[in-house]
Amino acid sequence: MNNEKEKLGRREFIKDALRTMTAAVIGGMGGFIGGRAAKNTVWQLDPNKCVQCERCSTHCVLTESAVKCVHAYDVCGYCQLCGGYHRPGAKIQDTAAENQLCPTGAIQRTYVENPYYEYTITEALCNGCGKCVKGCGAFGNGSLYLQVRHDRCLNCNECAIATVCPSGAYQRVPSDRPYILKGQQGQGS
Ligand code: SF4
Ligand code: SF4
Ligand code: SF4
Repeated sequence: MNNEKEKLGRREFIKDALRTMTAAVIGGMGGFIGGRAAKNTVWQLDPNKCVQCERCSTHCVLTESAVKCVHAYDVCGYCQLCGGYHRPGAKIQDTAAENQLCPTGAIQRTYVENPYYEYTITEALCNGCGKCVKGCGAFGNGSLYLQVRHDRCLNCNECAIATVCPSGAYQRVPSDRPYILKGQQGQGS
């Protein structure tokens, strides 16, 4: 019992640390856009409306999309079998490339403690395809989701993705609140 409590305590500690990390990264991005934007609105996608049609990865005017996967760590279940990481039907739930859902190897899986695993996104490798988002939403807690990254986005007058988005997820938001976040980071935004 004490052992279980200790495990849960450690898990909460890890989650807190990751939450702080996410806040720092997102906060840094927000500060950047706030100082740069000439207009007072920027494009952002609402993760609650996104249906992961994959057009975010193919229709951005940039060669590598400005849309990236982000992770709400405080929502994640740290699952051993992750619907966002493993291909459906993967027989062995390990890190072998053939068992991974992400086409670019952008998700890292790290053992935390039995039976928990941590999943982190390498944004430089992510093309915003949303396959992991769909997988996580179907089988997990929906902690993976897409966001326009404002350190990359050109804030086009007319966003090429917005014109093809089938679900109305793309919208302009105030430049001082440039992200629509899930989990605790999203509260009050
Ligand atoms: S185009 Fe719209 S629905 Fe498709 S992945 Fe992007 S935000 Fe989601
Ligand atoms: S599956 Fe697609 S959206 Fe998810 S991390 Fe990989 S490249 Fe990015
Ligand atoms: S505004 Fe332009 S650069 Fe930004 S996501 Fe849309 S198409 Fe890409």
